[in-house]
Amino acid sequence: MSASLPILWIVVPCYNEEAVLPITAPLFLEKIKNLIEGGRISDESRILFVNDGSRDGTWEIIRSLAGSDVHYLGISQSRNRGHQNALLAGLMEAKDRCDITITIDCDGQDDVNAMDRMIDEYENGCDIVYGVRSSRESDSFFKRSTAHGFYKLMNRMGVELVYDHADYRLASARVLRHLAEFREVNLFLRGMFPLVGFKSASVYYERHERLAGKSHYPLGKMLSFALDGITSLSIKPLTLIVILGLLASFLGFVGVIWAIVEYLLQKAIHGWSSTICVILFLGGIQLLSIGVIGEYVGKIYMETKRRPRYIISEKTWESGGASPSGEHAENA
Ligand code: UDP
Ligand code: MG
Repeated sequence: MSASLPILWIVVPCYNEEAVLPITAPLFLEKIKNLIEGGRISDESRILFVNDGSRDGTWEIIRSLAGSDVHYLGISQSRNRGHQNALLAGLMEAKDRCDITITIDCDGQDDVNAMDRMIDEYENGCDIVYGVRSSRESDSFFKRSTAHGFYKLMNRMGVELVYDHADYRLASARVLRHLAEFREVNLFLRGMFPLVGFKSASVYYERHERLAGKSHYPLGKMLSFALDGITSLSIKPLTLIVILGLLASFLGFVGVIWAIVEYLLQKAIHGWSSTICVILFLGGIQLLSIGVIGEYVGKIYMETKRRPRYIISEKTWESGGASPSGEHAENA
């Protein structure tokens, strides 16, 4: 957009974060002012908070932030739709108003100082810069090993993921315009950005512990997120079923020949256990396979509905706050 300095929008999803937002919001503001003063980005750069249908005082905090400094903006989703959809809502709001976006969690886990290096890479010609955590020492052993298992599984399933990258990422407006053409409802952004393509780089940073509040991703949610990622981006499990089916058929064929030989040798009758084994084995494989196919059928069902992926109910600049361009409220 601007011929000289790029306009940066920092997009921050927030769900029930009243405990941590008052601590981290000033850190984002300090960073953006720092970058502006350092002549790295335009003064029209903004911090966009996306309230993901919080049930606590998060939206009130965002509104008062927006009233306190022109660099703060906020949009609110009409209900909770999850981290990925909140990110998409913010990115789509930002994409026509800026040159670059950086998405970052609002809990202070991601180091804001990595933004300088992300912008360096942007200036070097990268359209996507992945924030990659250099160590996982702040995580519990359990979270660390499940997370690594998750990346391994995803890669085996043919989903291209940047190792140890979550959703701390710089993306140019050009990339976002192409991302908008990905129409899927089941979102798994960290697997979708590599599919958009363009030149990319990684920037390493140390991930801290949450400054306050608690994680919204306990084990159950993480597992379903991993399953979602696989079934949204890969059809490899269906191929695996075919291979499993071929193997089972081959074993069955050998079994039939064996049974006939036994019959011809007049040794039949005994063999209850082998019959039961075969039935159980095949029954198990069939149920598992039907389950996996069911997962995909369910996804197809949801995709055919073409439901909106986010619905914004309020914007700070439509209810008294300064507009994205820094002027007074658009229709207050
Ligand atoms: N988040 C969201 N909607 C949700 C759950 C989480 O917008 O339904 C936000 C949350 O406020 C935070 C980010 O997503 O900014 C990451 O969530 P969290 O820190 O709980 O996950 P973790 O870092 O533990 O994986
Ligand atoms: Mg977190």
